[in-house]
Amino acid sequence: MRLRCPTCAAEYEIEDAAIPEAGRDVQCSACGHGWHHRPQPRLVLDAPPAAAPTDFRAFLREEAEREAAQRRAEGSSAIAPPAAERPKKGGFVAGMFLALLPLAVLAGIYAGAAQIKAQAPGLAEPIQRYADAVDQGRRWLHDTLDR
Ligand SMILES: [Zn+2]
Repeated sequence: MRLRCPTCAAEYEIEDAAIPEAGRDVQCSACGHGWHHRPQPRLVLDAPPAAAPTDFRAFLREEAEREAAQRRAEGSSAIAPPAAERPKKGGFVAGMFLALLPLAVLAGIYAGAAQIKAQAPGLAEPIQRYADAVDQGRRWLHDTLDR
């Protein structure tokens, strides 16, 4: 711990064990001032963690007991996989939807190209190019599928 002389402010680094909890008479070697030094109360961080509220602990105990009872009922060999590992219903559909969303946006731009051109003349050229490209793609797709 760090000791500081109250008279001349000289500082001393001493071992914690050198000062008992009840304190001890010390003397500054710089100015000769003597005083009774008591160690600082321990930091809050050093204190053991506060006990959980009783009702919460009771809740945990109930949970554990219920789980144990369930395991006994099912037989310890048949442990059900955690819910998170089970395949989620609708996960594939959601994934498909997310994958299709950008396509839907592009399709929307394509479908509304004329309207966008009318409302935003600055966008007319890039949108026309985009629409042309989509037309080309459609023709290519059509030809490819026809073969
Ligand atoms: Zn001193």
